[in-house]
Parts: sequence; C-alpha cells; structure tokens
Amino acid sequence: MLLRIQKDESLRSYVERNLFVPNTILDNDAAESFSCCNWNSSQVKLVADLLGWHGCYGFNKLLHQHTAYSWKVALKSRFNYFYSDDAYLNTQENFDSLSKVRAYCPVCAKEDKQNLGYSYWRRIHPDVQVCAKHNVVLLTTCQFCNRPFARGGHTVSVMWSGCAGRHLGEAQPLVNVNLGALRLAQFFDKLCRVDDHIYIDTAAAVIEERIIKSHVGNPAALGELENLTGFRGYIERCRLNDPCVSWKYYSLSNKLIELAISLYESFDDFLHDCHQLQPNAPSISCFWDTYCCFSSDTQNFVREVYELGVAEWSWPAFGHLSRNPVNANAELTHVLMCD
Ligand SMILES: [Zn+2]
Ligand SMILES: [Zn+2]
Repeated sequence: MLLRIQKDESLRSYVERNLFVPNTILDNDAAESFSCCNWNSSQVKLVADLLGWHGCYGFNKLLHQHTAYSWKVALKSRFNYFYSDDAYLNTQENFDSLSKVRAYCPVCAKEDKQNLGYSYWRRIHPDVQVCAKHNVVLLTTCQFCNRPFARGGHTVSVMWSGCAGRHLGEAQPLVNVNLGALRLAQFFDKLCRVDDHIYIDTAAAVIEERIIKSHVGNPAALGELENLTGFRGYIERCRLNDPCVSWKYYSLSNKLIELAISLYESFDDFLHDCHQLQPNAPSISCFWDTYCCFSSDTQNFVREVYELGVAEWSWPAFGHLSRNPVNANAELTHVLMCD
C-alpha cells in the first residue's frame, strides 16, 4: 500500500519516500521509470495513476498541487480553455530533475517531524530562497557535512535517513533579514494557493494603472511605462485570441508577476485589485479536465467528461473564419483535407 502524499510535497519526495519505507512497494516497471534523472509527463501520469487520480483531471491536479506548474499558469489567457497546454500529451516538459539542487526549511522539517513523525521535501519556486512561513533561509547544503542536496552530494532520502545520526530538522535556522526575499517567497506561496485564475490582460491593466499612479509627478520614472508598451500590443492580441504563441504568453506572465512583486506590498493587495476589475474569473480546477493539441498552427481542445466516459472535442479556431478570410480559407481547406 502506498503512503499518503503530503501538502506541497514534491513528486520526487513522494516517490522516494515510498521507496524508502518498507512494504510500500512499487512494481518493477514503475520503479524503473522513477529511477530516471529527469521526469516528464510519463512519470507524472504514473504517480497520478498510483494515487488513483485518473485522466487529464488527475494529471493536472497533481501538477497544480505538487509541482512548480501552479506558478506558471495562475495568470491565464481568457482564450485558453485548458490548464497545462498539451503537457498531458507530450513528453517535452521537465517536471523534476535530480541534477537540480533541492532546498528545505529546517523549521518546517522540525515541525513536520513533530506533527507527522517524518519530514518531506516541498515543491519550491526556483527563485525563492527563504521560507514564506518561518522567514528563515532555505538550506541547499547540509549543515552537518556541507554536502549539497544534489547529485554528487546527499541523495533525496537524506530527509529520512538523516546525516551522521542527525535529522535535517536539527539544523540551526538562519533568520532572513532581506525583506524583499521574504516578500517574494510569500507572493509565490499565495500565488500557488489562489482559488481562481487571474486573466493575463486583467493583471496587465491593474499593473499599468499602478505604475501610472505611483509615478505621478515623477516624469523620469515614466520610462517604465515604455516597457509596458511591448506587451500591451500582446494584451490586445490576447483579447482577439492569439493562442499560437504560448512562449510569449509565459514570458509575459513571468514579467507581469515580476512587476506585481515590485509594485505591491503583498499578493493579497494585487489580488484585490484584480478582483475589482475581474470579479468572475474561472476557478483554477475548472480546466483540469481539458487538454489541448496543436494542429495546423491552431489549437484543438479535448475535454474529458468522466460521468459519461467520453471526450468532447472542440476547435475554437473556427471562430476566426469570419475575421480573416485568407486564414479562414487556408484553415477550411486543411480541415476538409483532414476529414
Ligand atoms: Zn518553514
Ligand atoms: Zn550531511
């Protein structure tokens, strides 16, 4: 029987913990797949299946609650009808790598040990260096032997085996004095727990207004507004549906989060302004049952309807047909040929 996965526990932590504890046996095929250094969607699906979280819904639920994906997709284009692009179908995306350094908070580890009987590795945003809850510096090297928590250093299982008889929760916490680092940690912590999506054009409008307000009477600082024009064009195109440039979308999303962190004292203040402008955003989980696939530079969406045991297919690109006759003809020809 498998163990229970813990809140914010990373997928690698969960699997390694199951391998560490006697009698929580994974079959040979699963164990071989999990022994890979880099994990893609195959391993995520495998964990989801083992937990009984089936289909696209289970896959996305696992991504959202136990990987860094939640930070990536909290800001959403209003024309994206899925949670994780086509990650459910392809194996290109890396969801965990043993070559990356792991970090942990010694106070969290100590509390977990007291409350649960053991500690575990949490998913942590790569830019975060302090614990959002305890405001102590996250440790990436072992305080007892100086080895890194990475390849060539301690293995993942040091969290349970300890180092030279010492549990990682016994490490001395170092209080963080960098307020910016704490704010960033708390912002990302809240961002991954937000109930509803934030439309990306809403976030851009809110941030633009904030910059204008904060720079009244300060013409020199208005230069920052110039930086906004680059993505303002994209925002306009977002409103017209421009689904084929997801890399632009994600870099825009990252830029907006960066600006929000610099302009707002807290994530709650930012969220408040977004809610004022966009009170009825879709919930995070409402797109978990849908994935997309690309075809002829447009997107298809497939929604799994579990009650009926069927998948519903839609191709919103047909909405373009009346807007751009050149593209419309090309797409129509393609569709006819495919059919
Ligand atoms: Zn902590
Ligand atoms: Zn050590």
